[in-house]
Amino acid sequence: MERTLSIIKPDGVQKSLVGQVISVFENAGIRIAALKMRRLSRSEAEGFYYVHKDRPFFGELVEFMISGAVVIMVLEGQNVISRNREIMGATDPKEAAPGTIRARWADTKQNNIVHGSDSPETAKFEIGYFFSSIEIC
Ligand code: GDP
Repeated sequence: MERTLSIIKPDGVQKSLVGQVISVFENAGIRIAALKMRRLSRSEAEGFYYVHKDRPFFGELVEFMISGAVVIMVLEGQNVISRNREIMGATDPKEAAPGTIRARWADTKQNNIVHGSDSPETAKFEIGYFFSSIEIC
């Protein structure tokens, strides 16, 4: 059993896709182990995306992530880190496989509806960034 961090980004919330995205996970047999809705502060978004701080799009990405509320979840299931990445699709919706969340609903490489941890180490950091152990059911 594995856990990963998922975020429905501001574009997903803005487009009223919260229920549909959660349904995609639940229909795939993935369990929602924790969930909260937040408007991130600038420093929270910068800290979360710290690994990208030297990328040219960092400033834009932070602005986007604080532009509206997000839904932050811990997903649980077997191989859920890689399964979630498959379900999300490639970063750029133009390259995302048909039927994936990003292929169905994302507009651009940046505004791509969902975030998902990309490795066990990242998942551990990202889950701990937003949730304490007693908040995970
Ligand atoms: P992910 O793991 O598929 O989310 O992709 P990355 O870790 O490479 O990038 C993190 C996030 O930064 C992506 O989900 C996008 O929201 C954003 N991003 C990635 N590449 C670009 C880019 O070239 N331009 C902009 N503006 N945002 C990007």
